[in-house]
Amino acid sequence: MSTLALLARNRLALAGLIVMGLVVLLALVTPLLPLPDPDVTDTGNRFLPPFSEGALLGTDHLGRDQLSRLLWGTRLSLAVGFAAATIAAVLGAAVGIIAGYYGGRVDNLIMRGVDMLMAFPYILLALAIVAALGPGLLNALIAVAAVNIPFFARNIRGITVGIANREFIDAARLAGMNDARIILSEVLPNVIPVIVIAMSTTVGWMILETAGLSFLGLGSQPPQADLGSMLGEARAALITSPHTSVVPGAMILIIVMAINLLGDGVRDALDPRLRSGALTRPMAATLVRREDPAPEPQGDDVLSLCDLQTQFHVKHRVYRAVGGVSLGVKPGECLGIIGESGSGKSVTALSVMGLVASPPGVITGGAVHYKGEDLVGAPYGRLRDLRGREVAYIFQDPLATLHPLYKVGDQLVEAIRVHHALSDSEARARALGLLRDVRIPNAESRLDSFPHELSGGMRQRVGIAMALANDPEVIIADEPTTALDVTVQAQILSLLDTLRREKGLAIVFITHDFGVVAQLCDRVAVMYAGRIVEEGPTRALLEAPAHPYTRRLIACVPELGEGKRRLHAIPGLPPAVNDLPSGCAFAPRCDKAQPACRQGEIALDAYGPRRLRCLYPETELEGTA
Ligand code: ADP
Ligand code: MG
Repeated sequence: MSTLALLARNRLALAGLIVMGLVVLLALVTPLLPLPDPDVTDTGNRFLPPFSEGALLGTDHLGRDQLSRLLWGTRLSLAVGFAAATIAAVLGAAVGIIAGYYGGRVDNLIMRGVDMLMAFPYILLALAIVAALGPGLLNALIAVAAVNIPFFARNIRGITVGIANREFIDAARLAGMNDARIILSEVLPNVIPVIVIAMSTTVGWMILETAGLSFLGLGSQPPQADLGSMLGEARAALITSPHTSVVPGAMILIIVMAINLLGDGVRDALDPRLRSGALTRPMAATLVRREDPAPEPQGDDVLSLCDLQTQFHVKHRVYRAVGGVSLGVKPGECLGIIGESGSGKSVTALSVMGLVASPPGVITGGAVHYKGEDLVGAPYGRLRDLRGREVAYIFQDPLATLHPLYKVGDQLVEAIRVHHALSDSEARARALGLLRDVRIPNAESRLDSFPHELSGGMRQRVGIAMALANDPEVIIADEPTTALDVTVQAQILSLLDTLRREKGLAIVFITHDFGVVAQLCDRVAVMYAGRIVEEGPTRALLEAPAHPYTRRLIACVPELGEGKRRLHAIPGLPPAVNDLPSGCAFAPRCDKAQPACRQGEIALDAYGPRRLRCLYPETELEGTA
C-alpha cells in the first residue's frame, strides 16, 4: 500500500495533514493578502476587541492589527521551527551516523559529548546559548537546533550501529567502496526513514521551544511578530484584554496539535515493519469459512487430511494454495510430501494446526482429523492445547525460529513448561535429556549456549529437540534439512528415523529432494499447484513413477555412479495459484499432454496402494481405478 493511502486511512493524521496544509498555505500567501502592516502602531485604537471595524481579530496594546500580526507571526514561527528541525536533523544524523558507523573510540568520544549536552535541561541550555550569542531570532534558531541535535544523534546512532555490522555493508566493503561511499549509498538510505520520522515528531516541539524563547524576549525582537513574542507582549493585558493572548495561543495549539497528529501518522506509514502488515495483526488461528459440512474421519490414521482447501484472499484475488488435499499418516510411519517450491507444501502443513496467517489465509473446505477429532474450526484453546504437545513442527531455518537472545536450554525449558507444570530443575533435567536424545555433543554445556554459538546442524538438532519436548504423536517437518550440508543432512535424517522407530512417532516430512525421500519415507505424496498428483509407497513410486511430473522430478536428481547423464530441468514454471488452468495443472509443461488433459476435473484415482491424477500415465498401474 502506498504511504499516502496508509496515511489517509489514519483519520487523525489526515485531519492533522489538512489543518497543517491550511496553516502552511496561509503562511505562504500572507504577503499577497490585503493586510495592514503588522508593525504600524496606532495608539488611538488600542485593545480593540475582535470583530471591530477594520480589525477582524482586534488590535494589541499598541493598536497593531492582530490578524496581520498573527499571520506574519505564524509565517515566522513556522519558518524558524522547520529550519531548526532541519538543521538539528542534518547535524544530528551526521553525528549519529559517524559515531555508529565507526564505533569504538570515535563513538565513545562523540556520544559522551552528546551525553553531556543532554545532561542539561534543554531550556536552560537554550537560554545559555542565547545569553552567549545575544537575543535575536537567528540566535534562538541556533539555540533550538543545537539543543535538539543530541536527540537526533542518539536515535540515528542506534539505528546505524545495527546496520553497520550487517552483511550488505561487508559486501560493499569487499566490493572496494570507501567509507564515505558506504555511508552515503548503503547506510544513509536505511536511516532516512528514521530521520524523517524523528523530524515529523519533533517539529511541533521545536516550534514550541522557539515560541518559548521569544516569549521570554530572547527570540524575535520588537516590533517583529512571531507567535511567542505576541504571547509575551500580551501577558500584561491577560486579564483586561484576553483576546490578545488567546489569538496567538490558539494558533500555537492548532499548529502543534496538527503537526503531532500528522507526525504520528507519518511514523506509522513510513515504518516498514508496520507497513508489512504488523498493523493488521494475524489472528490466533487460521480463519475457517467452510461451506460444505466437514467430512467424517475414516481409517486408523493418527492424522488425516480430507479434501483440505486453504486459500489466500488478497483484495479481490483468491490464491488457491491448497486445492483439496487428502493425506493420512499412521503411528510410526513417515510420509513424504514432495514438490517444487510454491506447490503448497508449507501451506498444507501449516493448515493442520491453524497456523496459516489470517488475514489473508482462509480454510475454505475439508477437514483435518487428529485421532478422529476435526481440527479445522476447533476452538483456539483446543488448538493451543494440541500445538506442540500432540502435533509439533520443525521448520527450515532454526536460526530464525530460535530466539537469538535466550540460551537454548531456557528455550527448551519454556517449550516444556508450556504444557507441563514442572519445576525449573525438573524441566532443565528434561531439556538435558532431550539434547542427549538428539545426540548433541556436550549436552550439559550446550544448554547454556546461545543459538548463534551453535553450528547449523546443532541448531536444527535443538529445533528437533524442541519439537520432541512434549512427546508429540506427530511431527511435521517442513524442509528441515534444506539449509544444511549433505553430511549433516544425513545425520539429521538418521536421527529422525531412529526417533520414529523408538517412539512410534508419525512424521510428515516435507521436502523438494527425492534423495531425502528415498532415505526416510515409507510413503510419498507428490504435490503440484496445491494438489496431490501422485501418491504411493516410496520404493514403488521411485521405481515406476506414473505421473509425468513425478518422472521429471526424479530425472532432476543426479545419481552417483551412473556415469555422465544429462539432468533434465522441467521447462516452464508452476502456474500461479490465483489463475489455475482447467484440467491438469501440469498440462502446459507436460510433453504427453492431450486435449483431454486441459478440460474438466481429473480425479485422483486409487490403484491398490497407489493414487494417481493423470489420464495418460507413464506406466500402467495395477489394480482398478
Ligand atoms: P511451498 O510448497 O514451497 O512450501 P507454499 O506452501 O509456501 O509453497 O506456497 C504455496 C502457494 O501459496 C504459493 O503459490 C504462494 O505464492 C502462495 N502463498 C503463500 N503465502 C501467501 C500469501 N500470504 N498471500 C498470497 N499467496 C500466498
Ligand atoms: Mg515451503
